[in-house]
Amino acid sequence: MPNIWGENGIYAGQYRRHSVDADVRFFAGWKTMEELFSTIRKEQEIYATVGIFAFKMAARITEVLNSKADMFVLDEESGFILVRNFPILKRWKAIDKIIICERCKTENGKFETTCTSCGANLLYSGKRKYKTERKDIKRLPFFIKIKEHFSEEMIQHLIKHPNGHLFPSPYNEGEPYSRKWAWNLVKDYGTIVGLDSLYNHWFRSQRLMQLGNQYKFTREELKAFSGIIKDETLDKYSKQIQSYTEKIGLDVTAEKFNQLMVQ
Ligand SMILES: [Zn+2]
Repeated sequence: MPNIWGENGIYAGQYRRHSVDADVRFFAGWKTMEELFSTIRKEQEIYATVGIFAFKMAARITEVLNSKADMFVLDEESGFILVRNFPILKRWKAIDKIIICERCKTENGKFETTCTSCGANLLYSGKRKYKTERKDIKRLPFFIKIKEHFSEEMIQHLIKHPNGHLFPSPYNEGEPYSRKWAWNLVKDYGTIVGLDSLYNHWFRSQRLMQLGNQYKFTREELKAFSGIIKDETLDKYSKQIQSYTEKIGLDVTAEKFNQLMVQ
């Protein structure tokens, strides 16, 4: 049986489609995270900062890129950063049914029988779909402790960007960096640190595992922090192998687990 597990429990087999489900098994640990971010920072400081925000907030990369200064309240005296009105960019709602013309890709109304653009018969070459739009849903306000790894980097970035977007695009004034940029960013992270298994949700998943494993967050607390509402989704992100091995008195680290997988 060939080894399919790479460093830190990251899936390293032939199957290339990355998913939280298959790729992440453990919180990599603060030391590994420090190495990761400092390596990235040497190449591209902004990449490291985006990754840090994604990790600290258990957020999607696109949510990080769309963050605005007024969502963050820095209270150094109390020792926290409060994040409020943070939008969840994944939730969609169906607003109408449409028919996509498979020949020319035009969107047609749900009652059309021929394509309004190319005249194709939609009974044969039409695909029914729901037209969706993002739901305007915000996460509950959540706290980030200042005395924790990478909070200082967050604070420095917040101070540098007191208004508007936290990650303004240098190419498009008044707009944040784009999704496409984010996608390249995640690919580049992997290349820079020599891990080609890094992908956007890795940071989010790492944070959830850290909160569960180190701070002993309950499921409800993980949900409150992350805005994840489905049990199934939460299970994918916050695997709890470390928690139960600890409870039965076994010291199973990520490294140990990887060794066992290759035997
Ligand atoms: Zn058409």
